[in-house]
Amino acid sequence: MRIECIAIGTELLTTRRLDTNSVWLGERLASLGLAFHRKTAVGDSHEDLAALFREALTRSDLILTTGGLGPTFDDFTKECFAEVLGVELREDAQSREDMLAFYAARKRVPPESNFKQALLPVGAEALRNPVGTAPGVWWQDPKGHPGVRIVMMPGVPREMKRMWEEQVEPRLRALAGAPTHTLRMVVAGVPESALDERIREVRQRHGDLDWTILASLTQVELLARGADPAALEAARADFLPVLGEDLVGLGAGNLEDAVLEDLKARGETLALAESMTGGLLAARLTAIAGASEAFLGGATVYSPRAKMDLLGLPPDLLAREGTVSEATSRALAEAVRARLGATWGLGLTGNAGPGTEGKAALGAVFIALAGPDGTIAKALTLPGDRADVQLRAAASALDLLRRALRNG
Ligand code: AMP
Ligand code: MG
Repeated sequence: MRIECIAIGTELLTTRRLDTNSVWLGERLASLGLAFHRKTAVGDSHEDLAALFREALTRSDLILTTGGLGPTFDDFTKECFAEVLGVELREDAQSREDMLAFYAARKRVPPESNFKQALLPVGAEALRNPVGTAPGVWWQDPKGHPGVRIVMMPGVPREMKRMWEEQVEPRLRALAGAPTHTLRMVVAGVPESALDERIREVRQRHGDLDWTILASLTQVELLARGADPAALEAARADFLPVLGEDLVGLGAGNLEDAVLEDLKARGETLALAESMTGGLLAARLTAIAGASEAFLGGATVYSPRAKMDLLGLPPDLLAREGTVSEATSRALAEAVRARLGATWGLGLTGNAGPGTEGKAALGAVFIALAGPDGTIAKALTLPGDRADVQLRAAASALDLLRRALRNG
């Protein structure tokens, strides 16, 4: 199925508004095992819209539009599509009733201009809008284009999402036939290319599934999609031994979720001493609701002064070893663990660049984990710009803890 998205609105062509609708729709399509072959943003120009609709009708089986369904002068998506297809607009009685009810519930009377929202191209079906006044349109086999489906949705993201979830997606599922199932495996601590090589053989063995590998700075996601749940289960069973302890988790969730879950399951706690990540790791953990059950807190000890005053690191240690050193990362981890009485303490120090800090090389990072059985430390040289190095360092620290928890 060739699917195309058309985001309508002049504001989308400026910096005033980002086209988030098409991104959201793309994600929802992916969950159905579908994808766009094209996305376009177009302004509120009758001429541009008509030209684009004509093209879309020749190259796509499913055309999704958002925007331009409202009551104002710059809303004419329906009118334009009807004109291109040579079809009249007629009032849809249900849409008119819904609109009157919407206004009555707010003790208001709809302005006359609003009734144009109840117009519908002949042969199309209205999609009710439970959270706004502009109905959408489901138009199957429009005149002269058998097999084509046109779906018009409101531009307001909240209205578009509701309409998609409640009315459009179920219809597409029915069209797509068998439901699609997804197996998601999250892996950390392995570069994408190395992982790709390691899993090649087992992935080929399950070549009937539709595979995607998505790498970010902090983790790699492996996604398999297929219609047969048993085939996905077989793939899961074959992947487990290949991924080993590099597997962070299955299904939803990321590295942070996995670490917090493991800590909670063990009734253990974590404290952080962050230098070069400046609180980034704490922010990533606290972004997850319920983090307080396992994450006690931490210190952003960016300057040598903060390392001494907040965590009591000895001045001579810093002078002797340097702030970016394994000894300092160990001292940070141990100090914050002791001060907060946590099961685990993580200490991070490094040079995120762009310049060199003292003697430390660019991207040099030291991570230490203090726990019940002592302290372990890791030296890394991380690539990328400042933000990349910080993010990678935070993820590496979490992964060090994750492995300790799994092995302990
Ligand atoms: P419209 O349906 O064209 O009247 O748009 C209603 C509201 O939704 C406006 O505030 C738009 O800026 C916003 N909007 C329209 N299209 C999009 C889109 N593709 N992504 C995000 N917001 C949008
Ligand atoms: Mg608009």
